[in-house]
Amino acid sequence: MTPADLPALTIAELQTLLRQRQVSPAEVVNCLHARIADADPTLGAYLSVDLEAALREAASVDVELPLGGVPIAIKDIINVAGQPCTCASRILGSYRSQYDATVIRKLRAAGAIPFGKTNMDEFAMGSSTENSGVKIARNPWDLARVPGGSSGGSAAAVAAGEAYGALGTDTGGSIRQPAGFCGVVGLKPSYGRVSRFGLVAFASSLDQAGPLTRTVRDAALIMNAIAGGDPQDSTCLDSPPPDYTAKLGRDLRGLKLGVPREYMSDGIDPQVKVAVDAAIAQLHSLGAQIVEVSLPHTEYAVAVYYIVATAEASANLARFDGIRYGHRAENSNNLLDYYGRTRAEGFGAEVKRRIILGTYVLSSGYHDAYYLRAQKVRELIRRDFTRAFEEVDALISPVSPSVAFRIGERSADPLQMYLADIFTIAANLAGICGISIPCGFAALDDVRLPIGLQLLGRPLDEARLLQIAHAYEQSTTWHQQRPPARKSHEACAA
Ligand code: GLN
Repeated sequence: MTPADLPALTIAELQTLLRQRQVSPAEVVNCLHARIADADPTLGAYLSVDLEAALREAASVDVELPLGGVPIAIKDIINVAGQPCTCASRILGSYRSQYDATVIRKLRAAGAIPFGKTNMDEFAMGSSTENSGVKIARNPWDLARVPGGSSGGSAAAVAAGEAYGALGTDTGGSIRQPAGFCGVVGLKPSYGRVSRFGLVAFASSLDQAGPLTRTVRDAALIMNAIAGGDPQDSTCLDSPPPDYTAKLGRDLRGLKLGVPREYMSDGIDPQVKVAVDAAIAQLHSLGAQIVEVSLPHTEYAVAVYYIVATAEASANLARFDGIRYGHRAENSNNLLDYYGRTRAEGFGAEVKRRIILGTYVLSSGYHDAYYLRAQKVRELIRRDFTRAFEEVDALISPVSPSVAFRIGERSADPLQMYLADIFTIAANLAGICGISIPCGFAALDDVRLPIGLQLLGRPLDEARLLQIAHAYEQSTTWHQQRPPARKSHEACAA
């Protein structure tokens, strides 16, 4: 066998080498660690990496398990026992997790090794990872640009060969949008499909955890490990999940795909539009029937999301009071002063903005005009999807109106940043599933930047999305392209 550049392998390829005993789990961990040490000072994808803990697990892991010996990077909003969990916020400072989130427990049961906590926008609020209270993360395709967010560290790590796969969370696009910006696969499962026990809550009616990987098959493998009921999360459905790899390889004949008219409108970067149109044509040539559909309440999605999400965030973030976790203010005069100082020092500007907005829309006098009305329009948005899915099996759209933007380009204008979430947030409001897959590149200046294609599916229809995404992926070469920041590491050949 020719030597393989270990960090470049997919999870499925790595498993073959592990099971053939061509490489040991400890070698895989050491090699990935070398790659991170080499590349991450530039990229900023990780907030913490614990080599010793991973090597301890590698020593006893059973490589015959579904993900046996595969290191998986974890967004720093998910608790991994003994590891830091900062949500990229000063307010959690040196906090260490006391227990494993259910998704971590399930990953371990499948043989995976949680390795490294990834950078993110503070408390998952943002679309660029520029709101990280720790450091900036960069896009491996162009270091002057953002990796997207809020799971930007997870996406950048997977794209740059610093992780085989990663977990992210998606409240309004935070798995799919960074996956799109970094040219990897990102799946947001349906509400209730994956347990949130042990995730730090941002907006509880919207949050979901899911995989970021280099291939669709790898996303299915992680879903097989993490999906399913959890007695510790009553919002998590009991119905047994399917085998997410079962439909991979099936063709698309007999499937009907819808293109939402409102999602292909003005304001989309022309190169994104060209790539998505080509992907639609490709899906058609693979046997799918394509029809136009309408999601008439799309124009309200951003407003509704930024009311519901901030309202829930303002309640969820009340627990960071300087008493239970992390940062504590000094020299306060009384308890109220102490809370105020702790929170003023601990939270960054965007988190404060959201808490203030959320408190405002919930306050008496404004509650009915904003929060209640937003909940009603949310229901109309959900019905748009129910109606569309009576006609079609899945919807196709861009992930984002643009490709990765320059660091600093939008950070001064929160509204502009919010508006760019237009294609991803409705899925969270409706509780449906969505996947982002690479569908081409935009040539900008002298760089090539990935373009993401989004597929949206019925609640609990992740297996169908994976089938469509896999058929498309296998008929293209986008997923095989690697960013220039990525160079093989000599210590990492097996
Ligand atoms: N960009 C959106 C926001 O800023 C979504 C974030 C997320 O999904 N966590 O809220």
